[in-house]
Amino acid sequence: TCVNRAKQCPGEAVSVVKLPANLETDTTHRYGPNSFKIHGLPHPRPGCVLGLLGTNGIGKSTALKILSGTLKPNLGNFLSPAEWQEIVTYYRGSDLQNYFTRVLENQLKVAVKPQLDAAFQRRLRGKKVKDMIKHRDERNKMDEICASLDLMHLMERDVGKLSGGELQRFVVACTLVKDADVYMFDEATSFLDVKQRLQVTEAIRALCEKNMWEGGEQAAMSKYVVVVEHDLAILDYMSDFVQCLYGSPGAYGVVTKRSNVRNGINQFLAGYIEQENMRFRNHALTFKVAATDFFVNDEVGGELEEGQQQAAVVGKMGTIRYPAMSKTYSTVGKGEEVRRCEKRSDELQTLTFALAKPDSKPGSSFTLNIEAGDFRDGEVIALMGENGCGKTTFMELLAGNTKDQRGKESTIGSNADGADADTANPSLASLGVSYKTQNNNPKHRRFEGTVRDLLEETINSSLSDRLFRLLVVRALQVEELEDLKVSSLSGGEMQRLAITICLGTPASVYLIDEPSAGLDCEQRVIAAKVMKRWIVNHMGKTCFLVEHDFVMATAMADRVIVYEGIPGVECTATAPRNVNEGFNNFLKRLDVTFRRDPINFRPRINKKNSRKDQEQKAAGCYFLFD
Ligand code: ADP
Ligand code: ADP
Ligand code: MG
Ligand code: MG
Repeated sequence: TCVNRAKQCPGEAVSVVKLPANLETDTTHRYGPNSFKIHGLPHPRPGCVLGLLGTNGIGKSTALKILSGTLKPNLGNFLSPAEWQEIVTYYRGSDLQNYFTRVLENQLKVAVKPQLDAAFQRRLRGKKVKDMIKHRDERNKMDEICASLDLMHLMERDVGKLSGGELQRFVVACTLVKDADVYMFDEATSFLDVKQRLQVTEAIRALCEKNMWEGGEQAAMSKYVVVVEHDLAILDYMSDFVQCLYGSPGAYGVVTKRSNVRNGINQFLAGYIEQENMRFRNHALTFKVAATDFFVNDEVGGELEEGQQQAAVVGKMGTIRYPAMSKTYSTVGKGEEVRRCEKRSDELQTLTFALAKPDSKPGSSFTLNIEAGDFRDGEVIALMGENGCGKTTFMELLAGNTKDQRGKESTIGSNADGADADTANPSLASLGVSYKTQNNNPKHRRFEGTVRDLLEETINSSLSDRLFRLLVVRALQVEELEDLKVSSLSGGEMQRLAITICLGTPASVYLIDEPSAGLDCEQRVIAAKVMKRWIVNHMGKTCFLVEHDFVMATAMADRVIVYEGIPGVECTATAPRNVNEGFNNFLKRLDVTFRRDPINFRPRINKKNSRKDQEQKAAGCYFLFD
């Protein structure tokens, strides 16, 4: 049965989780014998944005394929699949009957933004950005949409040469310019910074606004929009309704009934669907890692003996200062970097397009100025800024990598006296740095053995530490990957492995660049907790974090470095500020305010010009702390 095949979550007794009684009969689609099956479907509603929320491998993309008419559901009978007519009859009485009837009669035109992978970009090599968008511009809104997604400076580029974030915006634009009745966006914000995520959100929401269509309100009210999104703040802001998918990744997925956004997300986090009296996870996903709840009330903590529930080990390093620094890249170097990345992408399955460097204007150079600052034991410092403003560059400087890799073209030094690169921050690299790079270590991705082999080769001593196995390897669900070939891992699996290796490398300073890339909403919450618990509470060390998922960033950060300036041209990284001042400053620049949900305290974006938005802006309070 499903229950037997269900993969067990760490420390989770499946028996506690109650499954719906009709799981054997009410199947919507099954790929084949012993393969994944989905129960239920999303019910999009005209004039509204429907958000889908669920773990990787739970059937979100499958559901979109069915709704778009490209995958005919077999109602569980893969040997003699039903005809479309039967399927329509099956949905008699629900709004899907009308929906499928119209899709089949070609009355509903569907436009889909697919989930991106490396193969997708490879197929588009040699095509020009402008030509591809123009070709699809049925609404005659190309310029407006491209401007709103900040694509205008990329129009002459080859699609094959776009960075991950650029490609994402390009594909979103290709979908938005079409004149369709149904719009679907499968993960539209990965690789984007917070500002770009908000831009994409506004552009998608505009599909249901009357002034965006010739037919006015009536036209807008007839558009169906469905989004799959893992960034909880964005999903929350983008959607009018939410449906969750739960079950067992790779085995089966159940789609919940449509509910309002706030309840839908809260129920997903709680692991309990109230209307259906359904508990699908026996622990709630929470963000807070207070020093006091180190092991309490936790998914894996229950397994520890009492003696091991020790208080946090706080290091003795004290405060470390780093000097003001600056770094300039010439465009020559940039070109080389991009070419090198392209060569690699042929050999790799993972999301290699993210390797290309983000936006920079050709024919110019980029300068990053860093204000002098300090950091302490047991804190997380978040670097918040747009793509291309030098977050990764800062990490490279802290890691002492910059000179090694880019020696000739780089100029590191103190701003004041232009001291040379060798003396820039010798103390820091010698402290011991463990660094998870933005695109993860290419050497690891090329590794030929299994995950276990790689773990043994890189962090063997940590592996024998029972706490490390429990709080990191098992909690990140890397344990179940151990027998797999590293080369076969998906983007999200590789990410979890990379985080594990980073945390397992003993160091005084942990540098973690974009850990949420490729992770689903649930894994993000878990990863945030694992990183904070291990680095801060257990090791008592320092973590520098680059993270665009605002829920994750605010859950982890103790202090914040904010970037100011023009991305790709010249930017300044401020000294670390307290969270209040830092996030406030960051959000003020974006002109966005956040409140917190009273139940689980997750940050929620205030609707622009809503009463709360105006009040908070007037009070200069862009982000509410509890
Ligand atoms: P999600 O989008 O939620 O990550 P998907 O819908 O892509 O999930 O996939 C759900 C499950 O269905 C996965 O285990 C996947 O391997 C499986 N699957 C997807 N497409 C096929 C297919 N064509 N044949 C067999 N299994 C498939
Ligand atoms: P972020 O991590 O904030 O997105 P990066 O630090 O990666 O930003 O890059 C900042 C700027 O420096 C970008 O404009 C990028 O194109 C440029 N850049 C990064 N690395 C190089 C390099 N090796 N050579 C030339 N330019 C680079
Ligand atoms: Mg998917
Ligand atoms: Mg970066």
